[in-house]
Parts: sequence; C-alpha cells; structure tokens
Amino acid sequence: MSQVWLIGRPVAHSLSPAMHNAAFAKLGLPHRYQAKDTANDELVATLDRMRRDDVLGANVTIPHKETVLRLLDEVDDEARRIGAVNTIVRRGGRLIGHNTDKYGFEKAVEISNGSVGFPFAEDSILILGAGGAARACALALLEHGNYVDIANRDPGRAETLARSIEVGGRHPRVVPWPNGPEPGDAVVNATPLGLNGEEVLEDVQLPRWVIDLVPTAAETPLVKRAKATENVTVVDGLRMLLHQAARSFELWTGVPAPLEVMRAALPRDV
Ligand code: NDP
Repeated sequence: MSQVWLIGRPVAHSLSPAMHNAAFAKLGLPHRYQAKDTANDELVATLDRMRRDDVLGANVTIPHKETVLRLLDEVDDEARRIGAVNTIVRRGGRLIGHNTDKYGFEKAVEISNGSVGFPFAEDSILILGAGGAARACALALLEHGNYVDIANRDPGRAETLARSIEVGGRHPRVVPWPNGPEPGDAVVNATPLGLNGEEVLEDVQLPRWVIDLVPTAAETPLVKRAKATENVTVVDGLRMLLHQAARSFELWTGVPAPLEVMRAALPRDV
C-alpha cells in the first residue's frame, strides 16, 4: 500500500482524505490518503521522509505552498510561474512539484458560469490574500486579460506577489487591507477567513461574482450572504476543491479520476 499525504496546518478539518480515499477504493487502488499536520520547522524532515518511504505523493496546503517550492528536486513550469506547489509526485525518490489550484479555480468558475467558458475578460477583480492560492488565481485572471487587485493583511507579501506574477507586462495592483476599493466585477476570498465563521467584506456591497475558496462542510458567512443577494453568482470553495483534487489524483495515479465518486464524498452537492 502506498500513502498519499496532506502536508499543512491545520489539516484536521480537511475534506480531501474522504474524497481521495473514496476514489482509491472505487478504482481498487491500494493507496491511502492521510493528513499530516506539519509545523513550519517540520517541513524539511517531512519531505525527507517522503523521499525514503513508500509514498506516492502529497498535497501541500496552508501555510507551506510557497516554501515547499524551494525544497523539491524539480518543479514544473506552471507551478514555477505561480510560485506555489500544491501537489507533489514522488518518482524514484525524487520529489516533483505541480500546481493544480489554478486548474481547479478555472474549472470551478467555468462550471459556475453554466460551462459556457471563463466569464471574466477585461474585468476588475479583487483578491483577498497573497498566499499560494491567491497566486494561482491571480495568474489565471491575468491570463484571461483581467485587472487584478490584491489586498493582504501583510502588505509586503502582496507587493512580492505583485512583482512576481505577470502576464504580457500586466501585474496585479496592491490595494489596502482591509478597507481597499470596493470590488468591481468579482471578489475572490483566498484567505482562510470564514473557516471558523469569520465575516469578510461585511460592510461592502457585493460584486456580481463572489468566489470563496474556503472549502468547508458548512457554508461560510460570505457564501451565505452572497447566495442571499440578488444577481450574485457564487463559486463555493468545495467546487474548486473537487476539481483541483481530481487533477492531483491523475498526477499521482496516471488514471482518470472518478469525479462523481469524489463529489459524492463531499458534504454538500457542488
Ligand atoms: P497560504 O498560507 O499560502 O496563504 C494564506 C493567506 O491567508 C495569506 O494571504 C494570509 O495573509 C491570509 N490569512 C491567513 N490568516 C488570516 C487572517 N486571520 N486574517 C487575514 N488574512 C489571513 O494559504 P493558501 O493560499 O494555500 O490558502 C488560502 C485559503 O484558500 C485557505 O483557506 C485554503 O483552504 C483555501 N484554498 C482552497 C482551495 C480549494 O480548492 N477550495 C485551494 C487552495 C486554497 P498574511 O500574508 O498576512 O499572513
């Protein structure tokens, strides 16, 4: 039996083990997905263990997606452009980094648009957060020709993101946290705020799209409010979770992910 790890902190609430273990069982694959709560100072040792043990690969989540990039043996071009890794594949004791968050984000947004394509082009989009997930979303949105504002609690990290993410000479613009400009056409919550019931953008009129990456069993306050607001399309973090997971599954196993089985393992229909 090979293991697949989830490396992050916190990971106890994660819905990924249920999804991946249901998929392994469905396909009769002898693998087991396990959450490994990993502090910052344990990351190097955890990766060394991965190189030695019978481990197929891993997901990497908050707060390690950017740090881990520098600790791997190889990183694919897209993960390098994003500057973050959320999926590791182990091949012959070498660890190779990939990023499936960007694919998951694009797929979730497209499906929420009735599967008629990516809805944003030349739009103005506010991203809250400047971590690994924010980087993947910022690159996707710039590639589709949008204007991206970044608001982050630590403005220095937002500046670093804005310098390093670029498409055709266009960079994201840094705006103040938490009281920046009103979101134009869409807002993306790429922070964990909402996981424990925290409000975000409480006093702000919601734009026509609200994309909340927080993947929780219970809807976040932002998702609840957006769903109750007329003419707002909501993208729930669970939908992105499903599609990034399917792509990660395919990287580890080399076979198509059983999407319906993975969807059924989630606590809500997405
Ligand atoms: P990172 O650790 O890379 O980044 C975390 C970001 O959240 C940083 O910008 C950080 O700000 C901000 N943040 C953390 N705590 C707070 C707080 N209390 N108040 C304000 N800002 C805060 O994590 P990721 O980018 O990987 O993940 C961010 C969120 O996106 C998580 O909730 C994660 O679960 C979710 N996500 C969901 C996915 C899905 O498929 N649905 C995929 C990927 C991520 P600062 O720089 O100031 O510390």
